[in-house]
Amino acid sequence: MNTLIIDGKKISQDIKNELREEVDNLKKTGVNPGLAVILVGNNPASKVYVSNKKKACEYIGIRSFSYELPEETTEEELLKLINDLNNNQEVHGILVQLPLPNHINENKVLLSIDPSKDVDCFHPYNVGMISIGELNGFLPCTPAGIIELIKRSNIDIEGKKCVVVGRSNIVGKPVANLLLSHNGTVTICHSRTKNLEEICKEADILVAAIGKANFITENMVKEGAVLIDVGINRLENGKLCGDIDFENCKNKAMAITPVPGGVGPMTIAMLMKNCVKAAIM
Ligand code: NDP
Repeated sequence: MNTLIIDGKKISQDIKNELREEVDNLKKTGVNPGLAVILVGNNPASKVYVSNKKKACEYIGIRSFSYELPEETTEEELLKLINDLNNNQEVHGILVQLPLPNHINENKVLLSIDPSKDVDCFHPYNVGMISIGELNGFLPCTPAGIIELIKRSNIDIEGKKCVVVGRSNIVGKPVANLLLSHNGTVTICHSRTKNLEEICKEADILVAAIGKANFITENMVKEGAVLIDVGINRLENGKLCGDIDFENCKNKAMAITPVPGGVGPMTIAMLMKNCVKAAIM
């Protein structure tokens, strides 16, 4: 089978270029999109994510306001900063990099962000809008990235059997909701699912968001399926790999996303899209 390897790097670059042009035009009308990025503590992975987000802002022309706070920042101090940013007209989007240190209640912090500035789409208001099928506001970044990858590869979702393995609030549940909004027939699987292999084998579109290296094997995949791999797992040899056994599944698939270079780069591109949306909403 002539398998399409979906190039997330290219598609995300296309989106960033489109946004750059849009921001250029917005600036001519006096709108100057701004994103506040808050990092608490010294988590090395978080530092890399934050730096990549700031770089993307710079490329697109979004102003970024950076707040790098020490590990011992109190919940009260963080909530006060978010309140100030909620009231700052120059800031259209607020992003709090997760995870937060243990002494800070993550939910309380995410709830304190004004839903109209919640570019990560974690606030229950925005999550609720997605679940009632209202897709004109913010879209959850990784799930929206997955939908873009599918659409820009000219793959139809309507009427397709979609199986999502994973039910996290960040990926599994919201991607299932978006697939449903695009008229897919959606099944969500998780660690207690029985007959996982048979369910996966029925999927026209299979989304794996599990966090276990090479978990989806060739025998779980239907001939001609579209395979979307969200997983990012580091192997003992230091290499990254996804939740889908790429080498063995790719020959069976109609299309497949690689790791790295598939879903990963889409998350920041969709975050940037939300930032631009925030400035014009
Ligand atoms: P979570 O750990 O929050 O969720 C994992 C899900 O997988 C859970 O719902 C769990 O089920 C399910 N699961 C675990 N084991 C099994 C099993 N044996 N059979 C069936 N289901 C199982 O992870 P996330 O959703 O946050 O992330 C998933 C992966 O995606 C990770 O590798 C992460 O690094 C990556 N990721 C990538 C992003 C990107 O930008 N590309 C963004 C976010 C995440 P249960 O609920 O029953 O425990």
